[in-house]
Amino acid sequence: MALFDYAPAPENRDIANLKPHYRPFINGEFVDGNGEPLKTINPATGEVLAEVSTVDTTDIDRAVQAARNAYEKVWRRMPGSERAKYLFRLARLIQERARELAVLETLDNGKPIKESRDVDIPTAAAHFFYHAGWADKLSYAGYGPDPQPLGVAGQVIPWNFPLLMLAWKIAPALACGNTVVLKPAETTPLTALVFGELCQQAGLPPGVVNIVPGAGDVGAALVSHQGIDKVAFTGSTEVGKIIQRQLAGSGKKMTMELGGKAANIVFDDAPLDQAVEGIVNGIFFNQGHVCCAGSRLLVQESIAEELLEKLRYRVSTLRIGDPLDKNTDVGAINSAEQLAKIRELVASGEAEGAERWTSPCPLPEKGFFFAPTVFSGVHPSMRIAREEIFGPVLSVMTFRTPQEAVTKANNTPYGLSAGIWTEKGSRILWMTAQLRAGVVWANTFNRFDPTAPFGGYKESGFGREGGRAGLEAYLDV
Ligand code: NAP
Ligand code: MG
Repeated sequence: MALFDYAPAPENRDIANLKPHYRPFINGEFVDGNGEPLKTINPATGEVLAEVSTVDTTDIDRAVQAARNAYEKVWRRMPGSERAKYLFRLARLIQERARELAVLETLDNGKPIKESRDVDIPTAAAHFFYHAGWADKLSYAGYGPDPQPLGVAGQVIPWNFPLLMLAWKIAPALACGNTVVLKPAETTPLTALVFGELCQQAGLPPGVVNIVPGAGDVGAALVSHQGIDKVAFTGSTEVGKIIQRQLAGSGKKMTMELGGKAANIVFDDAPLDQAVEGIVNGIFFNQGHVCCAGSRLLVQESIAEELLEKLRYRVSTLRIGDPLDKNTDVGAINSAEQLAKIRELVASGEAEGAERWTSPCPLPEKGFFFAPTVFSGVHPSMRIAREEIFGPVLSVMTFRTPQEAVTKANNTPYGLSAGIWTEKGSRILWMTAQLRAGVVWANTFNRFDPTAPFGGYKESGFGREGGRAGLEAYLDV
C-alpha cells in the first residue's frame, strides 16, 4: 500500500570488517576455545557470516580464574576515579567504532540498520558514559558510606539486543568494582567479541572482562560455577526459573530480567495518531523481539474501530526487508527456531477464533521474515493473549472503564512494562499506581535511558538495571 517506492539505500556491509573466525576473549587475549565451534548466520539471508570458537568447562574455569585474579589484585583496589577512566574510554571507543558495530549487529541479528545505528549502539555507549560517572561517587549512591563490590559476576544475555544487553551488564558491574565473565547468545556472538577488542584498545587490565561464547550449556556451566559471586541473567522466564532452582541456597546474589507481555492501554481521549505511532513502535520495533514490547493492545471500546482502522493503514506502510537498507522498518526474525515459534502461536490464535490481519507487504524470498500481524477479537484466555510471542504480532482487546483496563492489564504472570495513552494527567498517575509493571510509559513507548531503572515484577524477574537502583545489583548491600 506504499504511496510511492523508495530507491534502495543499502549500508555498506564491508564496514562490519567481518572476519572468518572469532575467538573467546579470556584474560585480555583472544584464545582458542575447546568447545565445538559454531557458525553464526545472517538471518536475513541464511548465509554463514563467521565461525566462532566456543568454550568448554575448562575454558570457563580459566575465565573465572582470570576474573578472580583481576578482581583481587587490580580492579577492586583501584580508586573509583581510575576505574571511571576505563569506562569513559570504552564509551568513547564504542562511539568511534559505532558504524562498524551497527553494521555487524545488523548482519548477525537481522535488525534494521536504522535501529542498530540510532538505538542499540548509541544507547550502549550511553550506559558506559553514565556508569563511568558513578564509579567515583558510589559513596553518595545511598548505599552507605563505602559500599563494596561483590566479586566476580557471571552474566548471560539474549540475542535481541546483543551489544546493548552487554552494556547493561558490564558497565554497572565494572563501575562498582566487580569483574565479569559474560556469555553472549549463541546466534549473536559477534559484537560481544569485538567488544573484547575495545577492552584491549582501552588498555583494560587483563581479566576484568572475559567473553565466553557458546550455547545454553555454557550459560548453565557459568552460572553454577563455584568461583562466581553474582549471577546476572537476561532471557526467558523458563531458563530464569531453571537457574534460580540451580542456585537456590548457594548464596550467590542474582538479578533476573525475564519475559513480558505488556499492556499498551489507549483511552478515548488519547491523541489517536500519536497513539498509533506508539503502538507501532511498541510491537514492531526490533521485529517485536523486545521483552517489554507492547504486545497486548487494550483499547477503549468506543474508539476501537477507528483506532484499528488507522493502525492497519499505518502498519501496511511499514517496509519489511533487507535489514541493511536504511529505509527498512522491520528486519529479519533472528532464527529459524524463533520464526517457527511465532508461526505456531499465530496458528493458535487463528484456531482459537481471533481475527487475523496481516500486512500485505511483500516478503524477501530468502531468510527468516514474518509480516506484521494484528489480531482483533482476542479473549484473555487465548494463548496469544497470555504467552510471549516475541515477534511482530499484536493482540488487541477492548475495555470500557479504567478499572477494567487495570484488571485486564494486570491479568498476566508477567509484569515488566506498560503504556498509557490519555490526555488526563490524573488518570496517568492513578493507572501507574495500579499497574504491576516495572516500567510504565505515558504517551510514549519503548524509551530507554541509562538513568532510568528497568526491571520486572512477578515472572518478569527481579532486580533493576540502570539508574541508581541498578547499582544495588553489583554492590554488597
Ligand atoms: P533464553 O533461551 O532464556 O536464552 C538467554 C540466554 O541464556 C542465552 O545466552 C542462552 O544461550 C542462555 N541459556 C540457555 N539455557 C541456559 C541455561 N540452562 N542456563 C544458563 N543459560 C542458558 O532466551 P532467548 O529466547 O534467547 O531470549 C528471549 C527471552 O529473553 C524472552 O523471553 C525475552 O522476554 C527475554 N528478555 C528479557 C529482557 C529483560 O530485560 N527482561 C531483555 C531481553 C530479553 P543460547 O543463546 O545458546 O540459547
Ligand atoms: Mg547470527
